[in-house]
Amino acid sequence: MKYFFYAVILLFGVLLTSCASRPKLPSNINAQIKPQYALVIHGGAGTIRKRNITPEVEAAYRAKLAEALKAGQSVLDSGGSAVDAVEVSIKIMEDSPLFNAGKGAVFTHDYTNELDASIMDGRKLNAGAITGVAHIKNPISLAREVMNKSEHVLLAGKGAEEFAKTRGIPLIDGAYFKTERRLMQLERAIERNGGAILDHDGDKRASSGEPIDPDYKFGTVGAVALDKKGNLAAGTSTGGLTNKRFNRIGDSPIIGAGTYADNNSCAVSATGHGEYFIRATVARSICAMVEYKGVSLEEAAHETINKKLEKMGGNGGIIAIDKDGNISMTFNTRGMYRGYIIDKTAPSVFIYK
Ligand code: ASP
Repeated sequence: MKYFFYAVILLFGVLLTSCASRPKLPSNINAQIKPQYALVIHGGAGTIRKRNITPEVEAAYRAKLAEALKAGQSVLDSGGSAVDAVEVSIKIMEDSPLFNAGKGAVFTHDYTNELDASIMDGRKLNAGAITGVAHIKNPISLAREVMNKSEHVLLAGKGAEEFAKTRGIPLIDGAYFKTERRLMQLERAIERNGGAILDHDGDKRASSGEPIDPDYKFGTVGAVALDKKGNLAAGTSTGGLTNKRFNRIGDSPIIGAGTYADNNSCAVSATGHGEYFIRATVARSICAMVEYKGVSLEEAAHETINKKLEKMGGNGGIIAIDKDGNISMTFNTRGMYRGYIIDKTAPSVFIYK
């Protein structure tokens, strides 16, 4: 009787532990049957401030992510390419001031906006990227032009903008990118660096009503897709880090760090503290593990984000899809704006861990 009692207690304990450690929302979706097509997007990762969530702000993020997913889904459903779907979804997020890309990009220390983007086509490993542009409404589209219409992979600043003109992409007034909210973030960051903000000011900062404290959020946007022909693509677009030095370049426009796609393995888009993602060549590492070591996408993402990056002290996450339609949304922060569609499913959108 005594042993029976112990056994029941033990069983109860095991059940309780496994329930507690099981993630409430899936960050990895293993495709039982290969889907016809699929799309995964992110809108940045960072620290969650649950106590400050307003339902309105959360709803706005969810709605925009769903809109971006639906737009990409309609491209893929009608037989469009993975590259098309990636561009369409990212453009929607670039046009929204909610995200740190295009409209609503963060400010440099010098009160300017410098935008970076990259895109990669997994068919032939073609890639295009731009960095430090200040007058391009949709940086992802210029990155695509670099990929398709230039002999280069990465163009910077003035050279990238001159190239845009030759491709019929208009240069816009930089005032378009400026938002009050980002300006306030810069000012807080400058004050904080000067030591003027005390710990408890975190509470003040967090009263923005956003689910993720914008000061501790990497709001880059990205997309990865698998199309009906089995092709993979990835893209990433960002304003970089608030208060960054002018001409600082993060991981987002670096092929292999913030973005990678190869039909033989997977497509990855990253968000987080770019310096670490560059040093750990995050996107390429994941695909290389899948290709050369035959490990699952889930395992490769876990090794790279939760082990390698984490050990280095880096924060952030990735979204990824492999050639069989398996999906990973792995991050070591408290939250990441993210979502996916698989074939005709309604968009699944998540914010918290
Ligand atoms: N990775 C970007 C950068 O370091 C920032 C972000 O993900 O929000 O520029």
